[in-house]
Amino acid sequence: MQKVRGILIGRMQPVHNGHMQVINKILEEVDEIILGIGSAQLSHELKDPFTAGERIVMISQALADAGVDPSRYYIIPMQDINFNAIWAAHVKMLTPPFSIVYSGNPLVKQLFSEEGYEVRQPPLYDRLHLSGTEVRRRIIEDEDWRELVPSATAEVISEIKGIERIKNLSIKEISDI
Ligand code: NAD
Repeated sequence: MQKVRGILIGRMQPVHNGHMQVINKILEEVDEIILGIGSAQLSHELKDPFTAGERIVMISQALADAGVDPSRYYIIPMQDINFNAIWAAHVKMLTPPFSIVYSGNPLVKQLFSEEGYEVRQPPLYDRLHLSGTEVRRRIIEDEDWRELVPSATAEVISEIKGIERIKNLSIKEISDI
């Protein structure tokens, strides 16, 4: 029987517990999930501090720790392109065939529904705290950010000296104003 595949595209800067919960939820609905690491070309910016490779290690290790069968997901880095009107085709070119798009991002939802895909809005889990913005803010303010992310994300951030990276970026971006 043909497999049902869904796709979730996110910047995942960094991978947090909201991403993990939504991935688990999607895996209840589809046979396989494609995880697109969005804005793969970006790193070392306050809003996008981590490289695509660093984000791939975070998500793959977090999925392994959660016991998710590796045959059920694909992790694919995706660079942005300048043309929103053909972005869905660009994504399609990079991935295994899929029929369902999962996103809470209004632009992503619009671009895929205009191309005829079924778009589903997954539930948002504790969005007040479970967001990349909040994780990065807590890192800068020396608050507890580790409770918001899987241990794999915390380990990668520690290995790559990610706390220092984000703090340096915050100093640089403030001094650039
Ligand atoms: P994100 O990491 O903020 O979120 C990704 C998804 O994770 C969301 O859609 C949401 O469904 C889920 N999520 C996040 N927090 C959650 C929570 N607490 N509970 C449940 N689910 C949660 O990433 P994003 O900004 O939506 O990523 C979209 C990507 O698509 C970006 O990289 C963007 O640049 C790219 N994009 C590119 C183009 C182009 O190149 N022209 C056009 C559109 C989008």
